Amino acid sequence: MKKLIAGNWKMNGDKAAASALVKDIEGKIAAMPGLLTTCDFVVCPPFVHLGWIKDLLGKYALGAQDCSDKASGAFTGDIAPSMIKDVGGTYVILGHSERRQYHKETDALVAAKAKLANDNGLITIICVGELEAEREAGKEFDVVSQQLNGSLPEGATAMNTVIAYEPVWAIGTGKTATPDDIKAMHAFIRGKLEQRLADGKNMRILYGGSVKPSNAAEIFGVENVDGALIGGASLKADDFIGIAASVK
Ligand code: PEP
Repeated sequence: MKKLIAGNWKMNGDKAAASALVKDIEGKIAAMPGLLTTCDFVVCPPFVHLGWIKDLLGKYALGAQDCSDKASGAFTGDIAPSMIKDVGGTYVILGHSERRQYHKETDALVAAKAKLANDNGLITIICVGELEAEREAGKEFDVVSQQLNGSLPEGATAMNTVIAYEPVWAIGTGKTATPDDIKAMHAFIRGKLEQRLADGKNMRILYGGSVKPSNAAEIFGVENVDGALIGGASLKADDFIGIAASVK
């Protein structure tokens, strides 16, 4: 299976910066075509850039960072999955810890969004991960299990869903989980997916949390790591592509 290299730009970049970044990534992939045999790429810019940026993308996919659980109507400020699809999106990140924390998103809401996204032909990247205090209390497996149970929608398959394990304490902090911790959690998630889904053994499980070129090879070498969800390092083409280049 190719590794999925997913860039979460978060709330960064004006039009000029977004355009320059996409062109830079595009140029680097063109210069290293071998990357496309080992990796699939998706970039997830802020909503306002989705429509026009699609025209600049060559060999990689476009994703959004969230979507509504409603199909249309009087929901000021929200974006329906069909709108993401309409402007060329293929993926949508759901249940990111920043949405869970700052927007009080629950597992049930994430599942409802994911169901509608899947129904509209989008592939979801569903994020799960424990807080530092939860890990210190030895509750990381319980937390992730509960998030998985509650956030995965009915009808999820390996074709329409990707899981991203992102320990919250590792996001944007420079701290990464150890390879042993990643191995244990990804094996645990794999087991849960296999129990619940007919094709759970094929569902991609990404690792996210301060992934950078210097630690990517070690992380990609861990069993059941099928790619990375990358925040900060996805804003620099050198780092984003450097991470992909670490895939053996
Ligand atoms: C993220 O926001 O999903 C993320 C993993 O961020 P960072 O790579 O900056 O830790």
